[in-house]
Amino acid sequence: FGGHPTPQAGPMKPASVKRIIAIGSGKGGVGKSTVSSNLAVALARQGKKVGLLDADIYGPSQPRMMGVNKRPASPDGKTIIPLQGHGVTLMSIGFMLAEDKAVVWRGPMLMGALQQMLTQVEWGDLDVLLVDLPPGTGDVAMTLCQKSEVTGAIVVSTPQDVALLDARKALNMFELLKTPVLGLIENMGVYCCPKCGHEAHIFGQGGVKAEADKLGLPYLGSLPIDLETRVAGDAGVPIAAGDSPMAEAYAALARRFIE
Ligand code: ADP
Repeated sequence: FGGHPTPQAGPMKPASVKRIIAIGSGKGGVGKSTVSSNLAVALARQGKKVGLLDADIYGPSQPRMMGVNKRPASPDGKTIIPLQGHGVTLMSIGFMLAEDKAVVWRGPMLMGALQQMLTQVEWGDLDVLLVDLPPGTGDVAMTLCQKSEVTGAIVVSTPQDVALLDARKALNMFELLKTPVLGLIENMGVYCCPKCGHEAHIFGQGGVKAEADKLGLPYLGSLPIDLETRVAGDAGVPIAAGDSPMAEAYAALARRFIE
């Protein structure tokens, strides 16, 4: 996996992977990676064979969030053996980079890296491969949708207007790329004070559902601002791996887009 990846022609969907689901957002910081890791773990707990590909080239979070951070083996210098965490088969561009090293790659190199992570990684039989996209509408999302028969995309947004504005652009991109949108997920919809139970809608209320309704797209559900979710992600044990009400919320969400 050394050197600079260069793109090759040809499709990028591994034959042993049943479906690829891209998880995107308009803006960074809305919780796309948190939602991706927790959905992956929730699906794995439901008996699905799940892969998680962290394609957020500019800020790969999955090594930390999934608590798996070492260089994957490549016995023949060509194929890459993915890592395992919480029942999920995992590959991240972050495995190949120092955590504090910025990536300044141009489009063709991004495409090459994405292609390597799809075709040279021994994913094995997977019911679903979730792809944690970089935020926005850049090269990675476009290449993935154009070249790898993506089954569908999920867009994560907070209810805040600025986030929704950008989420709309991401939705528009998926439409242009003819990638079906499986639904919208609202993250950080409400904060419930653990002491008094008061609910505060810090980023606004109802905006994601309203947007989904307006566009005729499925609204998959809302996740609250939750301290335990953040702590669990930082500790490398996604909240969905435990037995809290949040784990149940993720389990319910996971059932909504894969039968
Ligand atoms: P993105 O992938 O969209 O950039 P992240 O998943 O990295 O977003 O989340 C950004 C920050 O917000 C992280 O520190 C994460 O732990 C935190 N976070 C995400 N979702 C929640 C949530 N529902 N409750 C509390 N903190 C959250």
